[in-house]
Amino acid sequence: MRRITILGATGSIGQSTIDLIARQPEAFAVEALTGGHNVELLARDAIRLNAKLAVTAHESRLGDLRAALAGTGIECAAGAAALVEAGQRPADWVMSAIVGAAGLAPGLAALKNGAALALANKESLVCAGPLIMSEAARSGGRILPVDSEHSAVFQALLGEQIESVERVILTASGGAFRDWPLEKLASATPEQASTHPNWDMGQRITIDSASMFNKALEVIEAHEFFGISGDRIEVLVHPESLVHALVGHVDGAILAHLGAPDMRHAIGYALNWPERVDLPVARLDLAKVGTLNFRLPEEARYPALGIARRVMERGGLSGAVMNAAKEVALDAFLARRIGFMDMAPLVSRVLDRAEGDSCALDAECTLDHVLAADQMARNYASEEISTGAEQKAGIS
Ligand code: NDP
Repeated sequence: MRRITILGATGSIGQSTIDLIARQPEAFAVEALTGGHNVELLARDAIRLNAKLAVTAHESRLGDLRAALAGTGIECAAGAAALVEAGQRPADWVMSAIVGAAGLAPGLAALKNGAALALANKESLVCAGPLIMSEAARSGGRILPVDSEHSAVFQALLGEQIESVERVILTASGGAFRDWPLEKLASATPEQASTHPNWDMGQRITIDSASMFNKALEVIEAHEFFGISGDRIEVLVHPESLVHALVGHVDGAILAHLGAPDMRHAIGYALNWPERVDLPVARLDLAKVGTLNFRLPEEARYPALGIARRVMERGGLSGAVMNAAKEVALDAFLARRIGFMDMAPLVSRVLDRAEGDSCALDAECTLDHVLAADQMARNYASEEISTGAEQKAGIS
């Protein structure tokens, strides 16, 4: 039996992972599950899967979690340190599916123990790519990409030499507003941004798909994980979301990975790697699909992609700064404090300010320095939002 831990078990990726492991109860023993606010679902799954430990990120939710698990013998805990403890528990395979930079420390803890880390939390590589990659090399822990595009590239590279790769093309659905007139984007609401044309995902990544901050993070993720320079990573809008990524080689060949837009494919691949097993996902009928469309992303519609290029050129801890500023911008958009098209300029202004503090940006990529850069960016972003609100209200 393989020992499994799921960080972010109550989310979209976490639930898809549980769906797969619950189909093979004899193959997996669940060590720990973590969640955030949804302790009812966390407790239900911990009982159903006979987990040893259940952790909520929020101390205020521990009482309810404890009550829901009373009499079951399942340990429970709360808070940031407990999440790291969950990641550290002995496990063969750990799913890293907490959303945001909060997923970095627990995933890193799992990697330190030599577990195979199924990495959905792209923010880990964006914020701390060198740290994650060096920890994997030191501990022997394997990183298995779960983002569908990165899983696709990983699979397309099987048996290939990385030196022969000329370029990697990540596809993007274009998100909720891909066909909206540009002038309408400024008035887009969180509700409108929260519907994805093809994928069923958590709310934050769905809005990040509409702004393409998600793709911006993925470009950086690919750069960090595959060691490919940013100028060789391209993005194409592909409205059907059936081709997940393409790898172009020096001989002109392009290898593409296709599949239905269902995250259980990439999760199942990571769960069973290096083997392939029968997965409960729809099979593509290309004759029915008929046509696949591709187009270049418009810069004016998706300014986040330019920010990703800037981050890869600047290097250092600028990925942590970009991600943290983006998280604060997204919170402000969700709270209707800023508009949809205000998010990218806000992230750019935070990067401008951070670049003025080269000591912070060029610090060694340790967990402490990454968290410090993250906090600095959150402070800058909050200040920028307050200043913007004051200016709107006419206060100088
Ligand atoms: P969800 O919002 O659906 O779930 C996030 C999970 O993280 C939940 O378990 C949530 O708990 C928990 N969580 C939220 N905030 C915190 C926190 N501060 N500390 C600890 N745990 C927290 O997200 P997704 O499943 O959509 O995405 C998870 C990760 O996977 C993201 O990094 C995303 O970019 C990536 N990803 C997602 C894809 C998808 O299809 N959904 C595709 C590819 C990558 P609770 O809900 O109980 O509050």
